[in-house]
Amino acid sequence: MVKKEQLYEGKAKKVFATDDPQIVIVDYKDDATAFNGEKKGTIVGKGVINNQMTNHLMRKLEEAGVPTHFVEELSERETAVKKVSIVPLEVIIRNVSAGSFSKRYGVEEGIVFEQPTIEFSYKDDALGDPLINDYHASALKLATWDEIELIKKYAFTVNGFLKKTLLECGITLVDFKLEFGKLADGTIVLADEISPDTCRFWDVKTGEKLDKDRFRRDLGNVEGAYQEMARRLLGK
Ligand code: UDP
Repeated sequence: MVKKEQLYEGKAKKVFATDDPQIVIVDYKDDATAFNGEKKGTIVGKGVINNQMTNHLMRKLEEAGVPTHFVEELSERETAVKKVSIVPLEVIIRNVSAGSFSKRYGVEEGIVFEQPTIEFSYKDDALGDPLINDYHASALKLATWDEIELIKKYAFTVNGFLKKTLLECGITLVDFKLEFGKLADGTIVLADEISPDTCRFWDVKTGEKLDKDRFRRDLGNVEGAYQEMARRLLGK
C-alpha cells in the first residue's frame, strides 16, 4: 500500500490517500482540542495510544458482529481504513451521568442509569454540534430511517461489549461517542476512533478519571491517564 497525498487534516488525525481508491490512511496526532476547538494543547504520546487502542477494540468489535472501517495497523500512529463518507452524526451512549448531560439536566455526575441512553449531535462545527433527534436527522437527510435504526443497534452492541471489556480492566465506561460511515456500496460501518479522547473512563475503585476530562478540566497527569488506559487494556 502506497501512502499518497493528504486529503484532510482534522483536530486529532490526518487522512491520506493511497494507491487504492477504497482505502485511506489515518495518522493520529498528539494534538488535543476541547470546547469546539477553543482549548488547544498537546498530549504527548496520545496519537500512539489512541491508534493502538482503537484498532484493538475495532478488531474485537468485528468479531462481536459490528462491521468497522478497520483494515490494517501500519505503524505506531498510522492505520489503513476503508474509505467512507462519514454520517454527520455523533452518536453518544451514556451509562452514567457526566459532562453535558449533567449540565443540561442539572444533575450531579456519577448517577448510574438502569438502562444506557442514546443521543445524537449534528456534526457541524459552525453550529457547535447541536443535539438532534432521529426524526430531525432523517428530515435533514443526514441518514435514512433504516440507517439510523442500524446505527442505534450497532451503538448498543458496542456499549455492551465495551462495558464488559473495560470492567474486566477495572474501568467504568461512563459514556462515549461513536461515528459511523458509509462505504461506496452503502454499507454502514463503525468509523473514527474509540479512545480516551472519545470516552469517559473512571477507575472502578477510586473513581479517578482516566480520559480527556483531565485535559478539559486541567486535572493534571493527562499523559499518565492515557498511559494507564493503554496498560490496562493493551497490557503496555
Ligand atoms: N465526545 C466526543 N466528541 C465530542 C463530544 C463528546 O468524543 O465532540 C465524547 C466525550 O468524550 C464523552 C461523550 O462523548 O465521552 C459525551 O460527551 P458530552 O456530551 O458529555 O460532552 P462534553 O461534556 O464532553 O462536552
